[in-house]
Amino acid sequence: MKDTLVQIAGLKKVYQTGDVIFEALKGVSLDITAGDYVAIMGPSGSGKSTLLHLIGGLDQPSDGTVQVGEHSLDTMSETGLAKFRRTHIGFIFQFFNLIDNLTVRANVELPALLANSRDKRAIQQRSRLLLERLGILDQAHKHPWELSGGQQQRVAIARALINEPVLLLADEPTGNLDSTSGQDVLDILDECNALGQTILGVTHDAVAASRANTVLFILDGHLVGKLPGGDASGIAQYLADLTT
Ligand code: ADP
Ligand code: MG
Repeated sequence: MKDTLVQIAGLKKVYQTGDVIFEALKGVSLDITAGDYVAIMGPSGSGKSTLLHLIGGLDQPSDGTVQVGEHSLDTMSETGLAKFRRTHIGFIFQFFNLIDNLTVRANVELPALLANSRDKRAIQQRSRLLLERLGILDQAHKHPWELSGGQQQRVAIARALINEPVLLLADEPTGNLDSTSGQDVLDILDECNALGQTILGVTHDAVAASRANTVLFILDGHLVGKLPGGDASGIAQYLADLTT
């Protein structure tokens, strides 16, 4: 029996904009096993990013519970959540979200310095190893705007991994990349998973989703289906059937 890393029960998220109330998640329950690679697919606006944000402690649910390892997110304060995010979660976003006036190396090292600034030497060693592993060590002294999109996403992955997170959350990580750079990023995620990293990723692309062990489908705030990875055309067909 493998350990359950993420346990979600009855998760709801209600957004209120003025008088308009919108239920983005309508009661999602889900378990993720440690070491698993799970992809989430669904149409735009179905609640994919909301789900990732709640699991990563970037936002708080309106109802329901999120447990990551021994951490119950629903009982945490804002400061507790910030610390939880920094130490246990790695985020990768579609638009990289790097800090433009910091070098590549400084971008990667920042979350580690925020977590423990006394450990500078060990942090520099870790960032060097990560940049090397991701093939961008020679870019370490450049700034994000000097790099291609694919290189920037590698930097973002290195930054996400620097604190050795228990869970990597990737929100359309290839959505803003050309297909070759996208493939590279997917290869890197495969490698991370092979090294034991648990991954939960959102994608619009059935080929990308097929890299995962499990593909979950979300529609209008409900989890509505589940397929094994592997078969990209089967996944594409399932998604097409879901939205017609
Ligand atoms: P997806 O990532 O699947 O495209 P999201 O989780 O981003 O969907 O959004 C789900 C729904 O919730 C969308 O209809 C979106 O407009 C709405 N929504 C997301 N964030 C907010 C917010 N901060 N305030 C109001 N509505 C939001
Ligand atoms: Mg989204």
